[in-house]
Amino acid sequence: MDNHFADIILPLAVKGTFTYAIPEPAAGSVFEGSRVLIQFGNKKLYSGIVSRIHNIPPTGRQVRTIERILDPYPVVTSLQLKFWSWIADYYMCSHGEVMKAALPSSLCLEGVATIPVPEKYKPRTETFVRLASDFTASHLNEILDKLSKAPKQYDLLVDYLRLSGYVEGLSPNPVLKSLLIRESHSSVAACEALIKKNILTAVSLETGRLTDCLTTPEPVKTLSNDQNDALGSIRKCFADKDIALLFGVTSSGKTEIYIHLIEEQLKKGKQVLYLLPEISLTTQIIQRLNRHFGSVTGVYHSRFNNQEKVEIWNRVAGRGNGKNYSLIIGARSALFLPFTNLGLIIVDEEQDGSYKQHDPSPRYNARDSAAVLAALHGAKTILGSASPSIESYYNAITGKYGLVELKQRYGSIRLPDIILANTREAYRKKLMVSHFTPQLLEAMDEALGRDEQIILFQNRRGFSPYIECPECGWVPSCVQCAVSLTYHKSEGRMVCHYCGFSTAIPHHCENCNSTGLLSRGFGTEKIEDEIRIVFPSARVARMDQDTTKGKNSFDRLIRALEEKQTDILIGTQMISKGLDIENLTVVGILNADNMLNFPDFRAHERSFHMMEQVSGRAGRRQKIGKVVIQTSDPDNKIIRLVVNHDYKNLFRIQVEERKAFNYPPFSRMIKISLKHKDRSLLNEFAEILGRDLKNIFGKRVLGPEYPLVSRIQLWYIKNIIIKLEKEKSSAASRQLIREAVERLEGQKGASSLKIAIDVDPY
Ligand code: ADP
Ligand code: ZN
Ligand code: ZN
Repeated sequence: MDNHFADIILPLAVKGTFTYAIPEPAAGSVFEGSRVLIQFGNKKLYSGIVSRIHNIPPTGRQVRTIERILDPYPVVTSLQLKFWSWIADYYMCSHGEVMKAALPSSLCLEGVATIPVPEKYKPRTETFVRLASDFTASHLNEILDKLSKAPKQYDLLVDYLRLSGYVEGLSPNPVLKSLLIRESHSSVAACEALIKKNILTAVSLETGRLTDCLTTPEPVKTLSNDQNDALGSIRKCFADKDIALLFGVTSSGKTEIYIHLIEEQLKKGKQVLYLLPEISLTTQIIQRLNRHFGSVTGVYHSRFNNQEKVEIWNRVAGRGNGKNYSLIIGARSALFLPFTNLGLIIVDEEQDGSYKQHDPSPRYNARDSAAVLAALHGAKTILGSASPSIESYYNAITGKYGLVELKQRYGSIRLPDIILANTREAYRKKLMVSHFTPQLLEAMDEALGRDEQIILFQNRRGFSPYIECPECGWVPSCVQCAVSLTYHKSEGRMVCHYCGFSTAIPHHCENCNSTGLLSRGFGTEKIEDEIRIVFPSARVARMDQDTTKGKNSFDRLIRALEEKQTDILIGTQMISKGLDIENLTVVGILNADNMLNFPDFRAHERSFHMMEQVSGRAGRRQKIGKVVIQTSDPDNKIIRLVVNHDYKNLFRIQVEERKAFNYPPFSRMIKISLKHKDRSLLNEFAEILGRDLKNIFGKRVLGPEYPLVSRIQLWYIKNIIIKLEKEKSSAASRQLIREAVERLEGQKGASSLKIAIDVDPY
């Protein structure tokens, strides 16, 4: 018998799949993973993904028929469907929510009235230059001689020859014009001049919009002995384990080791996924990888537009018309690309909290999900870090993961010296200049005197976190959220960092009418202002959410740093990771205290990682780096550990604490957030669910409690946390929780409640 029915996943937060009839003539062209158009609800059309084909007619309702089969091939592989199922089950969400997160939105029609005409992908063309004819080497020498009076043109031609990999007798390779001008520090005018003289010619070519390098690949670097040993150990680990943790100090050459592992996989015809926690990090890594692997390298993250995402999707699936990708560098969403034969997943900076998606559902952790995806492909996973998460290191020393360590920086460069600057004392002695201690100013002065570069880290954007009435203590706060508004000076607005609400700067206190409102604390914007005053001749830039809204803004800021156009870069956590700038020698951490005092069991761990990471940016090549940490509490035990780069003791202390209080890795946490616009109804529902869960899980249930920010966008919030025993089957516990939530949803009036489940909250 033929298969007549298809179970279909819809891009909605509804549970389960929906069964539709397959139209007779289409019987042979519907597969698991096919994208189909169906009617759901009234008249709305949705694209759904077929998850199963079978012969069991649905009972109890008239079965509808699929309207149309959208593509001639399945868009989603069966392996992806398995991965989606795992995510939906483990992270307690619907298949439709996973589908929405996984598919580029143009592949995912939601509730449209008519069928939109598919966007046609228009290949993007860019201007390249190449030699105007097949000049011989001696001819080229003559040309260069003649250009010696035009140094810019001379440099440009020399760089063209280098970048294009000129070989006499072969037809000349094109080089992206903008890349050439940038690399040779030349100008558009010089390039135009060479074109006019018929030495170069401009051609318009279709580009992979994601790579801008068409040069011959460079061979991978030869590894040092330590690095070679580490590489050997990783291979040995992979003989009997699927996951290896590469624990290597900053600048030890972890990336070079990944490059060797990637090369090995690509030679075997396998695909590699290289995950990074932040989009800002892709800029430098893509350049490094491009150099070795050229055009098979693609990037994927949320900033690409829809057409681009679909194009990458097809290239990863092997439908790229000869332009397929076998190496993808991406942020967490790259996990959902349609890989056909992954051999390796690299999770760099595995400790990073940005791997966790907070909102919307699926609230997945890309690091943990990567291991599952790799297992589905029979691939290996490498987790890399200079300060591993407590969970991963615990898994490594207990034998679940392989453990490989690199204790030396490449070239035996010392780790940077860390200096603690006591802000309390400096304030008392009146030695502070704005927000800077004498130690930091001195280090900066010295670096600027040697033409070296500096980064200053402050984990708060805006000008100041709040303003306050000194008479009565009134603080302007968001009308929708229970938080104070942040003062953004250049925009001239008070902005809510939770909901985006903004309002004009108040000139007087709304409470007592007094006028002398004061701004309190400092963010990156204020630091930038002050630095410009303290170092008027330095070239200063700022990198935070406010200055990186455009798609290429990261590239521009990082390039300026690489090309020594920026002396001092001020930034939030965006600047703390991954940057590899040769001439950067001083790192200032402006306020270590506010990270440490955050009320969360991971706050200490997170602060350690952050300080360790940002310190690692300093002195990565010949020059020895210096890190100045400003704190009012120099005896703080975590700061002490950072000074000594003492991860092992951090781990020991954290493990003791977590064991004592039953936190991960000794338990599994699930957080249930309830939101309601009515505070008392919220309390009622939260009590009901809390009681129900306590009947099942007893003392393992904490709350309900208001979180630190108890109201966001007019929704009051209460959380319940369940710490599950590690040994007990977590699938069974998740089922019990699901049932309790369903019981709550069945209560009268519960439809105006929002419920979010977060498994392994971060
Ligand atoms: P990590 O990823 O551990 O921070 P990187 O791989 O970025 O370290 O290495 C730090 C710097 O040292 C980089 O600029 C890198 O190119 C250089 N480096 C590391 N290993 C080698 C090597 N074997 N040969 C040449 N340069 C190397
Ligand atoms: Zn007042
Ligand atoms: Zn708000």
